[in-house]
Amino acid sequence: MQEILRIAVQKSGRLYEGSMKLLKECGIEISNGNNQLRVTAANFPVEVFFLRDDDIPEYVQDAVADIGFVGENVVTESNKQTDSIEKLGFGKCRLSIAVPKNGNMRTVSDLEGKKIATSYPFILSNFLKERNITASIHEISGSVEIAPKIGLADAICDLVSSGSTLFTNELKEMEVILSSEAVLISNKELSANKKIILESLLFRIRSVKKARNNKYVLLNAPNYKLDTICSLLPGMKSPTILPLAESGWSSVHSVINESDFWNVIEKLKVAGAQGILIIPIEKMIV
Ligand code: ATP
Ligand code: ZN
Repeated sequence: MQEILRIAVQKSGRLYEGSMKLLKECGIEISNGNNQLRVTAANFPVEVFFLRDDDIPEYVQDAVADIGFVGENVVTESNKQTDSIEKLGFGKCRLSIAVPKNGNMRTVSDLEGKKIATSYPFILSNFLKERNITASIHEISGSVEIAPKIGLADAICDLVSSGSTLFTNELKEMEVILSSEAVLISNKELSANKKIILESLLFRIRSVKKARNNKYVLLNAPNYKLDTICSLLPGMKSPTILPLAESGWSSVHSVINESDFWNVIEKLKVAGAQGILIIPIEKMIV
């Protein structure tokens, strides 16, 4: 019988959509129509387990699941023995210390002797130890952001993405202690066959991530401007240049990184590029 790779994914919550979308873009068909706990893929040797995110590191450590998609914040806090294999590019957030906006705490050293509410006692206590600060940690499992207002704590250590929850609760971010995104974690002792399936999955995940981070660009330019324009386009190898029907003009095709996107487009326009088209890439194999 062929072995199957068991993947743990958050059952519902902030990582669910991103995890299912990634599997889908990797060409893996999972139907979770009936809200089942485990589903086998139709066309790839994987089985998906739907679990609470906090349980995923332990299940992967104990080989109940072989791999898992979970936030780095949860992996670090759980302190379980797993391998972090690949960042997945979604579920981005940060674990930060926040204090009342109108209070007098300004820097981390002002936390000395104070009470901090958090759902991340392990990460927070390590951080305080590193900074030589003695503070008491009050562990709560949810709605950490209201703790200062109700007099439960002087400060909080909680996840932030846009900062709007902090703003609503009259708190300000004082220090980021961990930047996080969803990661693929793996059991440390996968069988040889499971490693082969994981390699094949990773190949697909990396192709999807590259494609998301890059755009295909097409533009027209007069031939005498091609040197300048090509120098602005790193591309996968070098740009493709095709002659246009109108003599003295060419069409240039290349790939640009999402992070330099606007910067490069502006420079291309200044350098004389016309009719610029930007096209999303579905998969990118390099
Ligand atoms: P579960 O019921 O599975 O335990 P949960 O309530 O603990 O769910 P969610 O709020 O769904 O968890 O968050 C899951 C993960 O999403 C977090 O651990 C974190 O990695 C990530 N995340 C991204 N942005 C945020 C945010 N603004 N607030 C909280 N978590 C975020
Ligand atoms: Zn959780």
